[in-house]
Amino acid sequence: MRSGSPAEELVKLALESEAQTIYFNQNYGPYDVQIEQHIRQTARSAGIEVRAFKDTLILAPEEVLHQAGKPFRVFTACAKAWHQHAKAKPLPALRQITTPAAIKSEPIPTLDHWELMPEANVLQPGEKAAGHRLKRFLRGAIFEYAAQRNQPSLEATSRLSQDFRFGTLSPREVYAACHETARICTPAERRGVNTFVNELVWREFYFQILWHFPNVLDENFSPQFSTLQWDYDSAQFRRWCEGTTGFPIVDAGMRELNTTGFMHNRVRMIVAMFLTKDLHIHWRGGRKLFYAKASRRRHPGQQRGLAMVRGVQAQTQHLTSEFRIPGHKRRPAIRKATTSKDGFRSSKMSTLFDLHNHRPRN
Ligand SMILES: Cc1cc2nc3c(=O)[nH]c(=O)nc-3n(C[C@H](O)[C@H](O)[C@H](O)COP(=O)(O)OP(=O)(O)OC[C@H]3O[C@@H](n4cnc5c(N)ncnc54)[C@H](O)[C@@H]3O)c2cc1C
Repeated sequence: MRSGSPAEELVKLALESEAQTIYFNQNYGPYDVQIEQHIRQTARSAGIEVRAFKDTLILAPEEVLHQAGKPFRVFTACAKAWHQHAKAKPLPALRQITTPAAIKSEPIPTLDHWELMPEANVLQPGEKAAGHRLKRFLRGAIFEYAAQRNQPSLEATSRLSQDFRFGTLSPREVYAACHETARICTPAERRGVNTFVNELVWREFYFQILWHFPNVLDENFSPQFSTLQWDYDSAQFRRWCEGTTGFPIVDAGMRELNTTGFMHNRVRMIVAMFLTKDLHIHWRGGRKLFYAKASRRRHPGQQRGLAMVRGVQAQTQHLTSEFRIPGHKRRPAIRKATTSKDGFRSSKMSTLFDLHNHRPRN
């Protein structure tokens, strides 16, 4: 465990351990690309080789392109192309990795360090725990996933997002396990498996967008929204962050995020809609404040919140009026956003791909 500049610390570690090569799985956000470039440069000047591999995604952004060689902007078309591609199978785990003795390490951070509370019930970290989570999900909840995944009161989703984020599970491994599950389950159960895989494809799609259009982190994806007028009320924004808006589902979501670092997908949609469509606060302003907080206090809840506020930008372009808080005002200009043909969600949201029969289902 080390802290500091990733490039400098990695190269120091490589020199201390007499490693000749640094291997890593490539990431696709602009910040990751920057870090990776820095690692390559620093390692090269120290005479260390660097080799990057694909494992963060099942298919790299350059593998799924329009026939014209351009990136997809619409999910449905992208998902169809994604399913047509051959996917590499997971490789067996290494039996043994020998590590040199006496490598210096900082202590493993505690909950205190992350300013998380013991009662936060943070998920068990590590590869083994991630594997158990996957197995448990594939044995039960996945079969009800299509029907139950949108109910925040249920534990109906996989809770695997942090495992993908930290590499304790490979999406390739999860995809292969879903295939196997689809092969042996009933057609009714398979609907859940197909729906879950569709969410994995959404994840791949968002990474592709980030890779091909890195400016989405700061700008609107659809330029017609760049003239939208936003309000900014710092007290309202603070109440949104703290979960004291007075709207129970919004507050429950924000408090869950602040306490545990996690929020259910449906509730993320609601709090994001509340911030942008009800409070009319720009997603970018929200993101900046989260940045400021996150850099002072290294709180994973805030980090996730920050990522989530980023998500607002993409999400406002496709969500429908079901997320309106009754009685709250709404701007017609924002409502227009839901009909954008450039929006991420296409109107044909039922393009579930049947894993077992390998054909698109309606
Ligand atoms: C406003 C907003 C912000 C979000 N911010 C993040 C974020 O910062 N980091 C993050 O990992 N996810 C984000 N998501 C997506 C989603 O909410 C989480 O991935 C999901 O709640 C994680 O729980 P789970 O692993 O139980 O998901 P499951 O429902 O079990 O889904 C399985 C996996 O599919 C992927 N997935 C699921 N839903 C989505 C989605 N809507 N878009 C893209 N991929 C998806 C995730 O990798 C997830 O782990 C955001 C969604 C919204 C609406």
